[in-house]
Amino acid sequence: MNALERRLHKLERILEISRELTSTVSLGPLLSKIVDTAAGLTDSEGASILLRDARTGELRFRTATGEKSDQLADIPVPVEGSIAGTVLMCRQPIIVADARTDPRHFGGVGEKIGVETRSLLAVPLQVKEQCIGVLEAMNKRGEGTFSQEDVETLMALASQAAVAIENARLVSALRKAYEQLGELDRLKSNFISIASHELRTPLSLILLYAALLREEAGEKTATRLDAVLRAAMRLRNIIETMLNLSYLESGELELEVTCFDLREEVAAACEDYRPLIESNGLSLTTELPEREMPIYADRGKLRVVLDNLLSNALKFTPAGGKVDVALGWRGREMEISVTDTGVGIPPQALERIFDRFYQVEDHMTRRQGGMGLGLSIVKGLVEMHGGRVWAESKEGEGSRFTVVLPPQPKTHDSVTSGAVPFTMLK
Ligand code: ADP
Repeated sequence: MNALERRLHKLERILEISRELTSTVSLGPLLSKIVDTAAGLTDSEGASILLRDARTGELRFRTATGEKSDQLADIPVPVEGSIAGTVLMCRQPIIVADARTDPRHFGGVGEKIGVETRSLLAVPLQVKEQCIGVLEAMNKRGEGTFSQEDVETLMALASQAAVAIENARLVSALRKAYEQLGELDRLKSNFISIASHELRTPLSLILLYAALLREEAGEKTATRLDAVLRAAMRLRNIIETMLNLSYLESGELELEVTCFDLREEVAAACEDYRPLIESNGLSLTTELPEREMPIYADRGKLRVVLDNLLSNALKFTPAGGKVDVALGWRGREMEISVTDTGVGIPPQALERIFDRFYQVEDHMTRRQGGMGLGLSIVKGLVEMHGGRVWAESKEGEGSRFTVVLPPQPKTHDSVTSGAVPFTMLK
């Protein structure tokens, strides 16, 4: 092989290895692959990688070829005055013919792993403008010192390796962030569960004694106690919403399935809401099939779904607007839609409104009450029945929520009679 062929062969090898490097997202195995390749391509006895700690600015050994490489891990190397430090600062490769006589050589590492460094080649690991570390090859075999060709080869490898290292670090940071998010989510669920349970008992006492006092009170005090009772009932509804969510999340909620006419249930929910809707200056229309629609489902839970959708349509539609509720067949499944001519939902929020606590308007500036839990409960309940729910909307023109339900729940195992009570009044 002549010199040109040899260089071509090395470049091909770097290209080949760069594909491998970019597909390795775990930092440990990636670094090992890089040092093995570096030693092979430069015909050296060994190679190592030092990375710069972005927080402290320190340079530390991360890995090296050979069995004792783990003893190297995390050994700090001074940035000032060392060979690796100089490469890091100047972003230029350095060839050292004999490290034993070079005052910049940091001998502590060689002593630790029982390897003496003679010749050395160090190149920067650079991603765009940033130098993230140093790649070193040590003890050139045969002729004894590193050549310009070795510098070019190691620089080419380093440029691919640096990108792969940065990617692997980003992937690991992302994984960590996901784990932290998962933990936060768990804490949030725990908080909802604990808070709702802890609040329920004292509130029941308040309601009980306020009701008793109300019976014994004179007219003036009774009016005041009515206000106390109304406020306490509102609080109870909020707590029940939180409880229901935590039952749903913990899988404690079960379906109590019976066979009933869905048309009748939808009509009843609409009629219950009609006075409230009309007293808010809105009109309510219904499009129901002529024949009954028998469904096997949990009646109470489907009522919660309908109540939430109707309550939202009412909350987010200004006076003069319309709410339309339609029920029909969608193939062998049943479809309920609640359409309003209200404020609408921005496209980027259409998926997120089903997330816990998500509200389109900022909580501080919003005019409507609510905790952003209703739709996540709706989604959970519909999915328990093996159905699906989604929203479509044009901002400023209105929204449509569609619920599709199978004639009987697919998750038939969760049917029981001893289910957790589920009563939510929004
Ligand atoms: P809440 O209504 O208590 O805030 P939900 O989970 O029921 O919580 O709804 C989440 C968010 O979705 C609402 O805060 C609102 O921003 C948006 N939303 C829900 N229904 C409608 C609707 N019919 N029209 C416009 N926005 C809606």
